[in-house]
Amino acid sequence: MATIAFIGVGNMGGPMAANLVKAQHKVLAFDLSKDNLDRAEAVGAERMASMADAVAAAEIVVTMLPAGPEVRAVYLGEGGIVGQVKPGTLLIDASTIDVESARAVAAGAAAAGLEMLDAPVSGGVGGASAGTLTFMVGGTADAFAKAEAVLAQMGKTIVHAGASGAGQAAKICNNMILGISMVAVSEAFNLADKLGLDRQKLFDVASRSSGQCWSLTSYCPVPGPVPTSPANRDYQAGFTAAMMAKDMRLAQQAAQAAGAVTPLGAAAAQIYGLMNAAGHGQQDFSAVIRLLAGK
Ligand code: NAD
Repeated sequence: MATIAFIGVGNMGGPMAANLVKAQHKVLAFDLSKDNLDRAEAVGAERMASMADAVAAAEIVVTMLPAGPEVRAVYLGEGGIVGQVKPGTLLIDASTIDVESARAVAAGAAAAGLEMLDAPVSGGVGGASAGTLTFMVGGTADAFAKAEAVLAQMGKTIVHAGASGAGQAAKICNNMILGISMVAVSEAFNLADKLGLDRQKLFDVASRSSGQCWSLTSYCPVPGPVPTSPANRDYQAGFTAAMMAKDMRLAQQAAQAAGAVTPLGAAAAQIYGLMNAAGHGQQDFSAVIRLLAGK
């Protein structure tokens, strides 16, 4: 049992903190949102009046924040975590952020003698609640060994991806595959419609052929073939198009910085950006099929 400060108890952080409470840790929660703190308190976390109060007493700090600027500010800004914690506190950022920010924050922590991991997740709110997230972790082997047991209380698959930033790299590469493959599957169903090919028949063929992929067989963008997919509930998210647009932008930012050629990633970033701009950002990202059908 450890004392764990949890900063950012929103849609994902809230249920993750709840699983740490269930695992008998003392969880000190802080968030700028009163409502989210209310929910964290209701599941057994201790409500802290300030971030400094939360992290000063902690052996481990976990953050689950929106994006890179928030993570930089919370760790390295005035009154930030790096200047407030006890020596030896392990820092874990589970937010999805740009690789550069992840490396900059870890370097700032290292300069203060602290170990830090980037540990973004996949699995969504459902996985966060069920404790079945996949963690992709960047940082030293020593820090990973210290964090693994706690991460396993919030997730099912814990992968040490490499040095600092490697967790974020794994996350955006995976999501670039997902974003592109959903566009591909959607284009194929829209073409099938125009050709008069029954959707279920396309599914029956492609799911057993070389077109098979997760976007088709687990998250099919048309209603019917996969009853659990968001298409069957009018594209209620799931994973929002706005989140997908953010991850596609992160992938493009990283590709440009690293000189990687990713033309389909660039196209997908534009397509999900368009979906967002058209006011559909809160729909599930698989509703991209409607945009591509001109609906
Ligand atoms: P969210 O907006 O529900 O939660 C973020 C929380 O951070 C909010 O409660 C907000 O008040 C808090 N916050 C922001 N700035 C803060 C600060 N300075 N101090 C304290 N609290 C602060 O978002 P979410 O859906 O929980 O996502 C969190 C991260 O997880 C994002 O990086 C997202 O990309 C990633 N992620 C989300 C999902 C998903 O399905 N929702 C899946 C995988 C990864």
